[in-house]
Amino acid sequence: MSEKVGDFIDSFISKMNDRREVKENEYLGENGLIHCNKCHTPLQCRISLNGKDTIVSCICKCRQGEMEREKKRQEEEERLRRIQKLKANGIQEKHLLEWRFDVAENSKDIQIGKRYVKNWKKVRGDNLGLLLWGEVGSGKSFLAACIANALLEQGIPVLMTNFSKILNQMGAMYSEERYQYIASFSNFPLLIIDDLGIERSTEYALEQVYAVIDERYKSGLPLIITTNLTIAEMRNPSDVPHARIYSRILEMCTPLNISGGDRRKGISRSKTDTIKEVLEL
Ligand SMILES: [Zn+2]
Repeated sequence: MSEKVGDFIDSFISKMNDRREVKENEYLGENGLIHCNKCHTPLQCRISLNGKDTIVSCICKCRQGEMEREKKRQEEEERLRRIQKLKANGIQEKHLLEWRFDVAENSKDIQIGKRYVKNWKKVRGDNLGLLLWGEVGSGKSFLAACIANALLEQGIPVLMTNFSKILNQMGAMYSEERYQYIASFSNFPLLIIDDLGIERSTEYALEQVYAVIDERYKSGLPLIITTNLTIAEMRNPSDVPHARIYSRILEMCTPLNISGGDRRKGISRSKTDTIKEVLEL
């Protein structure tokens, strides 16, 4: 062994060497090694380094437990940060973040939504979309947002948007940018388009709507649509541009009539109850 290597090993051994005084909360065990007062496991162990008996420091059981808990805490923090980011990217309208299964009544529609989330792997694998249709206030958007939040909380990227927003965004783009923007929806395993049918229906707008729907179709990823249109209106559209859009949607999405009663009425009723209570009416 060269002298240099020998020096290096010697200096390494002396660095590793943990011969020291017993500190507070420690004691010297019968084997001559320092132990932790709390968990009574060693803080030192004896090893042979380059033929020399050396005492090196080690981690006692309680410190090991602390480190594991700290690691878990950091992982949990990281998970929550990721979910927060996913939510910020996927749901821009803040009020939708409040629409979750845990604040929903356990209605038939909500149970269907829960099963959709529970069976997500199959839903995604088989590209099972939903067309949630029904009257204003029937809870379609609420159900869609519950699904979005539940999947986001599992770390699955979901984008919930509507065509008015999409068209506004696209308005300022060049055609190449528009293409990239539409393609970017494929980064979301689930795309939810809320309130189909309220966007303007100029020739340009309908072309873009079709482009988004068709791109989704090609990506083979699930799509959820909510709409106030009736299923009859979608099956018998008045013109060709609408017919193209609706037939693609009906190919991808299973229609589900949402008739859960007016949720907003439900909210105002409970507000009435609250104010009666508060004001003792
Ligand atoms: Zn300990």
